Amino acid sequence: MNRALNKTSLRQLTGLIQRFQSTLVVAEHNNEKLTPITLNAITAASKLGGEVSCLVAGTDCAKVAEEISKVQGVKKVLVAQHESYKGSLPEDLTPLILATQKQFNYTHICAGASAFGKNLLPRVAAKLDVAPVSDIIEIKSPDTFVRTIYAGNALSTVKCNEPVKVITVRGTSFEAAAVEGGSASSEDVAATASAGVSEWLEQSLTKSDRPELTSAKVVVSGGRGLKSGDNFKLLYDLADKLNAAGWAGLSILVRYYPNTLFHQTEFKFVGFFLVGASRAAVDAGYVPNDMQVGQTGKIVAPELYIAVGISGAIQHLAGMKDSKTIVAINKDPEAPIFQVADYGLVADLFKAVPEMTEALDK
Ligand SMILES: Cc1cc2nc3c(=O)[nH]c(=O)nc-3n(C[C@H](O)[C@H](O)[C@H](O)COP(=O)(O)OP(=O)(O)OC[C@H]3O[C@@H](n4cnc5c(N)ncnc54)[C@H](O)[C@@H]3O)c2cc1C
Repeated sequence: MNRALNKTSLRQLTGLIQRFQSTLVVAEHNNEKLTPITLNAITAASKLGGEVSCLVAGTDCAKVAEEISKVQGVKKVLVAQHESYKGSLPEDLTPLILATQKQFNYTHICAGASAFGKNLLPRVAAKLDVAPVSDIIEIKSPDTFVRTIYAGNALSTVKCNEPVKVITVRGTSFEAAAVEGGSASSEDVAATASAGVSEWLEQSLTKSDRPELTSAKVVVSGGRGLKSGDNFKLLYDLADKLNAAGWAGLSILVRYYPNTLFHQTEFKFVGFFLVGASRAAVDAGYVPNDMQVGQTGKIVAPELYIAVGISGAIQHLAGMKDSKTIVAINKDPEAPIFQVADYGLVADLFKAVPEMTEALDK
């Protein structure tokens, strides 16, 4: 058979298979606003081919349903409102997802690999008696996904033969879907009764004026080398100066450290500069644990990641090694962080960081 024809038929066949896909994205939100990782999950769902529907379940979530109906790539928004969806408990959301699945027969159910998705989708998968595929970073085809194993040290390509693929999506691996330009239809779905096995009482969240770490374009992280929580002020001062100076701040640093740090001037848009931490710094009580970057913390992939006094253990690298540019400041030239750093400064952080901050005043 002609090779070109073969290729065309293969493409047509793939297109045909993709047309038969339909994906349900479970939206994460707080009844007011959509959580950004849902936009990444929508992009992943769009890559699977076929129609993408979003399920918005909450107590008073009409605003979120409206927001999501404008997101590009979403065909239908399913809305379920009930008191029992307060706090998004997996015990109460799972029956709703199962009922929705029974009605629409999706080939894929997905959500972001956040605490919400990690909490919910394994339960859904267990109830459907299928194996979930968690934290995917790439979609090879509607049934084949790439995910990291061994704390990000190896990639595993998984073919899933389950009739329904239940997947969580790593936010940093898929672009966010555009929030304008879509015109999805909206449909109410009947709320399911509470499972009655758990009850949401309250939540206490850390209050911060700074945005979520995962949304930062630049992250300055500190490790055990900082030696105390008070010394994290050095990093906050640097981040604040950079925030105030924005692009200009980076160009000042380029001038100040021309041959060591920051001589790459191609940073794209520079948004918020936020402070993160290693687990050692969190465990020592220097900073709260929502600042932790790594395998058991947040996964970030900013334009620029500056690791200060961090050795570069694999569990830390698992959370930041996809950053576009990595800068390390460490007094030990043998520190493993230098193996992944694009730019390194072997220096005492207590000297180098204040010097940088001071340079921004000039
Ligand atoms: C299951 C599991 C999960 C984990 N999850 C995570 C995770 O999510 N995130 C995470 O970060 N870790 C995680 N860890 C811990 C990880 O293995 C490391 O212990 C941790 O990352 C080390 O943090 P650190 O680099 O701050 O400290 P250290 O390894 O102690 O390094 C401190 C560094 O600071 C440098 N330093 C000291 N003083 C100065 C100075 N004055 N100037 C410049 N440099 C200086 C030192 O040279 C050293 O390299 C996990 C471990 C396990 C087992």
